[in-house]
Amino acid sequence: AARPFSGAGGQEEAEGASRATAMLRHLLLKLRATGPVTVAEYMREALTNPGQGYYTRRGGIGESGDFVTSPEISQVFGELIGIWYISEWIATGKPKAFQLVELGPGRGTLTDDILRVFNQLASLLSKCDVSVHLVEVSPKLSEIQALMLTGGKVQTSPEDKSAYMKGVSKTGIPISWYRDIQDVPPGYSFYLAHEFFDALPIHKFQKTEKGWREVLVDIDPDVPDQLRFVLSPSSTPATENFIQPEETRDHVEVCPEAGVIIQRLACRIEKDGGAALVADYGHDGTKTDTFRGFRNHKLHDVLKAPGTADLTADVDFSYLRKMTQGRTATLGPIKQREFLKNMGIDLRLQVLLQNSRDTATHEQLLHSYDMLMNPKKMGDRFNFFALLPHHRLADPDKKRKPESVSPLPPVAGFGELLLK
Ligand code: SAH
Repeated sequence: AARPFSGAGGQEEAEGASRATAMLRHLLLKLRATGPVTVAEYMREALTNPGQGYYTRRGGIGESGDFVTSPEISQVFGELIGIWYISEWIATGKPKAFQLVELGPGRGTLTDDILRVFNQLASLLSKCDVSVHLVEVSPKLSEIQALMLTGGKVQTSPEDKSAYMKGVSKTGIPISWYRDIQDVPPGYSFYLAHEFFDALPIHKFQKTEKGWREVLVDIDPDVPDQLRFVLSPSSTPATENFIQPEETRDHVEVCPEAGVIIQRLACRIEKDGGAALVADYGHDGTKTDTFRGFRNHKLHDVLKAPGTADLTADVDFSYLRKMTQGRTATLGPIKQREFLKNMGIDLRLQVLLQNSRDTATHEQLLHSYDMLMNPKKMGDRFNFFALLPHHRLADPDKKRKPESVSPLPPVAGFGELLLK
């Protein structure tokens, strides 16, 4: 249940160094030709440039990579998320089919754990047509996902052109890969975004005596081949569009791409039903400068060796909520340790401890539980946030005939008080 850590980092150092040079050269050429670029443009290049981007080429998730995520720490994490979807499926009257749609599936571990739960509940799901749809831009990570989920047996140019790859899971469930959420077919769907929104490009803004200015990336004139932050000399279209007149902070990060994707999810859920679960580190519109890099599990200067480090910024849940434009209800953000506790992680841990006799496994189970739940580790830093159709939370018939309508089942994982 707890995933043992294996392997040492740094195996790609030599390749990394030459890639760093290639990406930096590319950016220097671009900056010389066009002048400074927005932080969003810089982040997009560094992470998902089709030739040299970090996720395109490396995507170092796991102990031997640059950062470790909850699904990579313990299988219990994915199992509880799988149970959350099943509980929503039951609460909405067991529809005949559902799609599990994961955005940015990394190594595919989370979906693998969820599919194992679905397989264990096969008798409950026997009449339900389940399919998996993965939205992934990185060719390297999609290969790793295919290996994890299908054993590598995939079709790479399927007849159905909307998907770029298709396969069947080890448990017999069809899986399709897409580059964009818009390519995923419509239908009742459960969406999942774990550590996805934090990887999307942000714009950064600084309040000055002359008003709001956008933070840009430029070449440092004093040090050869080095980048630096500068402020736009005047306001930009982004400063006009993204800063609210009532803003009280003096530094603000905005991720318009996250807004667009949340809007799409909200539209789809409003139209076809289902739910979305977003789990990430973040805040509710209160934090300022959160842009940072990770390489080999250490903080890394965001402007150094672009393409070789993960770049990330906290998710602004208040912005996501705003961008649903009221099309769906939202729950949370609620802290990871509260969500997992509400989902029954303690009971699951007890069962796993009872089922195993050796002390090494016990230690590992307790260690991974601590990583996920300890407020100083991932317990307080990560949040869960959900989108649900309005009718899931407030029955429109209730006003008319309150006594005849049975109460709606509560949404698992979230306290009812968190409803917004
Ligand atoms: N969910 C995984 C991986 C998180 S890393 C986990 O928790 O372990 C971020 C993931 O998002 C990677 O799979 C990366 O390739 C993918 N990604 C980044 N930007 C993307 C984009 N614009 N569209 C689709 N996937 C993207």
